[in-house]
Amino acid sequence: MNFNFHTHTRFCDGSDEPEEYVKAALELGFHFLGFSGHAPVPMKNHFAIPENELENYCREIRSLQKKYSGKINIFLSLEIDFIPEITQNFKYFIEKCNLDYVIGSVHLVKNKQNNGMWFIDGPKPETYDQGLKDVFENDIRLAVGTYFQQINEMIINQKFDIIGHFDKIKMHNKNRYFSEEEKWYKDEITNTLKLISDKKIIVEINTRGIYKKRSNSLFPGKEVLKQIYKMGIPVTLSSDAHKPSELSAYFDESVEIIKDIGFRELMIFTKNGWKTQRI
Ligand SMILES: [Zn+2]
Ligand SMILES: [Zn+2]
Repeated sequence: MNFNFHTHTRFCDGSDEPEEYVKAALELGFHFLGFSGHAPVPMKNHFAIPENELENYCREIRSLQKKYSGKINIFLSLEIDFIPEITQNFKYFIEKCNLDYVIGSVHLVKNKQNNGMWFIDGPKPETYDQGLKDVFENDIRLAVGTYFQQINEMIINQKFDIIGHFDKIKMHNKNRYFSEEEKWYKDEITNTLKLISDKKIIVEINTRGIYKKRSNSLFPGKEVLKQIYKMGIPVTLSSDAHKPSELSAYFDESVEIIKDIGFRELMIFTKNGWKTQRI
């Protein structure tokens, strides 16, 4: 593959300056590179671009776009968090930064009853377990149901191109609290996929869980990918790179997996908008 539209730099929780990613992408022979730093969130945190750094981030990516024009197509994006009544409307960032495209993701699940927030991402299963207990009193169906409800609300009310790692809720579960085979879980997935399909959103196939050894399947997993293929929902492939060395992590293996399912094309962002690329 010659592209990656989901990357994080030192402006948020990634490791290096954006230019280091450009250099690594050129070495890999990439034609397209999208920067998707975590959009600022109005709370103390260690992962998002601080509000007062946002303009610098956008300026930096735009200047790289010019500098490397003719060598590689660089695009400016944000991975925007959706938390009801807490995060900014996606339109605010789209307009403020004149973004090329947007990734919409849920990392924090809000319980509207007690306003607590469950962080489902990060390296540690203990954080997931503690949050599930503190925010949802270990009621896994309520917690997972709320996660999908939040995703659905994002799909209905916000404007974005790609849905990020949409079954990440399974990552730290590892069959401990629920099985992905249970009917209620499958129903949540199907329900969300219908909304994704209606709104013509691109599903991201995200390799990060695998190469970070946090998950033994892609986001989304194989069974969900089969469903996505049957429904004709467009997909793209990304590694959610937090380091330049992760830009194409697990890409070759993933292409084999998805070709096996039947996929023959992936979505890529170009100067003329979204296009398909044969695999
Ligand atoms: Zn994410
Ligand atoms: Zn990300």
